[in-house]
Amino acid sequence: MTAAISSLRNRFLLALCGVLCLALLALVLIARYQITPILLENEDQYASAELDRAERALASEFDHMRRLVEDWAWWDDSYEFVQGQRPEYVDSNLYDESLETLDLQLMAFFTIDNEPYWISGFDDDGDFTSCRGEGDECNWANDIIALIQGKIDHSDEDTHTWLMTYPLLAMVGMSPIYMSQDEVPPEGWLVMVKPLSEAWLMGLRETSGIDLSLNILEDDAASHADTLERLSLSQMKASRILDAIPPSHVLRLEALLPRQRYQASQETFRFALYWTSGVLIVTLIVVLFLLERMVLGPLRQFAHFTQQLQHHDDNRVTPGGLLSRRDEIGTLMREFQHLREHQQHQQDLLLELSQHDHLTGLANRRLFDERLGQALNEARWKRASVATLMVDVDHFKAYNDHYGHQAGDECLVKLATCMNQCFSAHDQLVARTGGEEFSILLPGMSLYAATERAERLRAAIERLALPHAMSPVAKTVTVSIGVEACSPGRTGGSATPSVLMRATDEVLYAAKQSGRNRVCNRETDSQH
Ligand code: GH3
Ligand code: MG
Ligand code: MG
Repeated sequence: MTAAISSLRNRFLLALCGVLCLALLALVLIARYQITPILLENEDQYASAELDRAERALASEFDHMRRLVEDWAWWDDSYEFVQGQRPEYVDSNLYDESLETLDLQLMAFFTIDNEPYWISGFDDDGDFTSCRGEGDECNWANDIIALIQGKIDHSDEDTHTWLMTYPLLAMVGMSPIYMSQDEVPPEGWLVMVKPLSEAWLMGLRETSGIDLSLNILEDDAASHADTLERLSLSQMKASRILDAIPPSHVLRLEALLPRQRYQASQETFRFALYWTSGVLIVTLIVVLFLLERMVLGPLRQFAHFTQQLQHHDDNRVTPGGLLSRRDEIGTLMREFQHLREHQQHQQDLLLELSQHDHLTGLANRRLFDERLGQALNEARWKRASVATLMVDVDHFKAYNDHYGHQAGDECLVKLATCMNQCFSAHDQLVARTGGEEFSILLPGMSLYAATERAERLRAAIERLALPHAMSPVAKTVTVSIGVEACSPGRTGGSATPSVLMRATDEVLYAAKQSGRNRVCNRETDSQH
């Protein structure tokens, strides 16, 4: 489990997945806290612009009303009618069809003293009444008349229009009554009340192209700021409070608006998000693939190579194509290989030093003992014999004393070379096992054959004719040789290195005792 996590590939995979998640999280956060607020603000602005447009449509309705009320108020007949001069005015103008045509609920004439002069209109049941002043039949209009009276201002002789919410939802137009030609003061006021019916609202919806509605709230504390209520993902409701009387009943203009822009922007952003995520994932896969091919794969090969080296420390393990790479991994591999070769060389050198004698270059006692053990083991299962020779220079102390230590060393080197030449077969080993003492391993050789070879060696050394003036034995350097052999497969017990070497030493001792410059084995020894 830990190995799986610690693998470079998995760590990279985890790290890149982390980066991917962070990038996606960042995108989502950007969408949430940067883009969505901008979209919502745009939507607020759009809603406010739509409400402005609806208000402009309403303003053109006010213009109609203004023109209509001024048409009637600046008509001489109306002027004379308010003066009480035209009794036929009522029958010819203020009848039900006339108001219906004008789409009015009520038409009221006021005297200059603010008193109702004539009221014509449809009551709540749709019955038409037309009466002078506040006649009983026109009592239904009392609330409206009272509200209008409150709006009449003698100092302001302009035409006015406004919205009324109570007792009915209506548009009101009011103008002073003038003579059309003569510059005379106004004679009274003409007020027209047009109900804002569903049909009228339909017309407004058509002209504005907005799904509008007007609602009356009996809450004069309602906020006068525009509000926007998002009903669903596709629809929202924008509201604005309109000026209207009486203040106790607040009029709210509401517009049901589509949220196409928001949706489209969201859609676009989501599309971009999906694409970005897709590109990120593909990039991640490509990065992983390249990483695997260019770095992780070669590194794994490198790691595998070093692991193999640990288990099989030989030259069969090769680094494959890593050495020929021209990148950093190739450089690393070459450096590693170089270090490895250097280490191998040092190791070989150390082994050489630890197994050889530095003066003569012959094997030392350590190597001799090792090879002797191996030879005995081999001989045991091959049922063969192993012979050993122990060679000791005669009177070498005297040689040293006479010729000097340096000459003694040179003499030893010459003797070693001679011994090496005599025993040069690959399985034979000549070792310097003491100061002027040598041991020779002869695997597979019988005592007889070994004795014969020892004699040849002794003769060869004699032939070297290295002068030894102080030797009582001869005029030249001579050696004494002890020979012993054993067959571990047959003799069993005596076939250990120490036993064999002790026996060899004994016969060497015998050779010394019997006069030096000679070869002795157990048989010649017993003869003495
Ligand atoms: P024997 O015939 O009984 O062997 O007499 P020997 O003098 O050879 O024997 P001994 O053991 O008394 O002396 C061995 C001498 O070998 C002593 C020492 O001076 C000499 N010798 C040992 N090692 C070295 C060496 O590395 N270099 C030199 N030059 N002389 C050595
Ligand atoms: Mg000696
Ligand atoms: Mg000696």
